[in-house]
Amino acid sequence: MVYKEYGIMLPISPSRADRIMAFLKQALVEQPSLGPVYTAAEARGVLGETGFAGNTAPENSVIGREDLERVHAQEFIAALYEDEPDAGGLVRALLNAWELIDPQGRPNRYEPDKAVKPLQALFRTVLLQVGGTYLAARLALSGTAGKPPFCYYLGGGMHHGRYDHGAGFCLVNDIMIAARKLQAEHRATLIWVVDVDAHKGCGTAELVQFARERGELGQGSTIPDILNLSVHMARGWPLDEDAAQPGRAPCIPADVEIPIEAGAEAGYIPKLAQGLQQLEGLSGGAKPDLVMVVDGADPYEHDGLPSSGLLKLSLEQCVQRDQLIYEYLRERNLPSVWIMAGGYGERAWEPVAHFLNTLATTPNMAGNRGYFSEEGAKKYYI
Ligand SMILES: [Zn+2]
Repeated sequence: MVYKEYGIMLPISPSRADRIMAFLKQALVEQPSLGPVYTAAEARGVLGETGFAGNTAPENSVIGREDLERVHAQEFIAALYEDEPDAGGLVRALLNAWELIDPQGRPNRYEPDKAVKPLQALFRTVLLQVGGTYLAARLALSGTAGKPPFCYYLGGGMHHGRYDHGAGFCLVNDIMIAARKLQAEHRATLIWVVDVDAHKGCGTAELVQFARERGELGQGSTIPDILNLSVHMARGWPLDEDAAQPGRAPCIPADVEIPIEAGAEAGYIPKLAQGLQQLEGLSGGAKPDLVMVVDGADPYEHDGLPSSGLLKLSLEQCVQRDQLIYEYLRERNLPSVWIMAGGYGERAWEPVAHFLNTLATTPNMAGNRGYFSEEGAKKYYI
């Protein structure tokens, strides 16, 4: 999404997905390809979904209000849909999620006079992204027979979306909304979330726990469950901020929580491998119907966001990380949807592009479900 149109000044390159696609097109000449590449509209066509394209109202997205209410607090969702239009709930929620006003009331990374679109319009873009995560998961679940069921979505990854508020550039939590919708539609019972973004997936862990407390998710029974693994910076945002603010709900640990200290990058890959084994152990022999990989590129040493600077994986380590997860899932023939998630600055496209290129040039990977990205023709599913 193009944040500058809303006056939001973040080091997020609007052309990240396009640069990944351009790199792959160039690299794939004379090589086996990954398979079909879909836009959002084409993905909908393949899945036989209607609505969504050309509809600008949030309620016409493939994601409906009931999908948000399945996961988030009712009052929070009522504010987003402006049940009380004069209350300014949507704008307040957006300012909060993108931290556009500092504690002293001053604009932070926010220049509203440069905006060419009203801030409220960002909600529709967010809903399209959530729909993208859901559609990509559906594509993964409809994988070609005999091929590893896999879909990479060049968008999404709002893992900081908490129960009753947005945080860390995430208004709502697309991962949980998509996962719970798939479960409600009986398309999946057990889902794993493997989150390798540099920042801890605090929203996802909280939403899983709250749903378990409500009895909607339950481990070791026939009730659907979502088991989550998070490997992230041991310190920094959001962990330190929550610890420093009295009264703020603490970050809830994931089922498999793997904090990595600054300078301990050499232990990253072995710990991740061990974590995947633990996740399998927690599943008690049950195979997940779907694995959602939150494939943040911000652990990359050349990432442009200061708050992800405590983890510095080389390009080679980033690719190894993704290959490890991919191979692990492929060996077990587990369907997986990969969501692009965090990645900031001019080089954020590199880890994803190089990982996908390794898949394309490995013969047994060809024929996967495609990549995909958001908003009309600008989103691709690979
Ligand atoms: Zn991140």
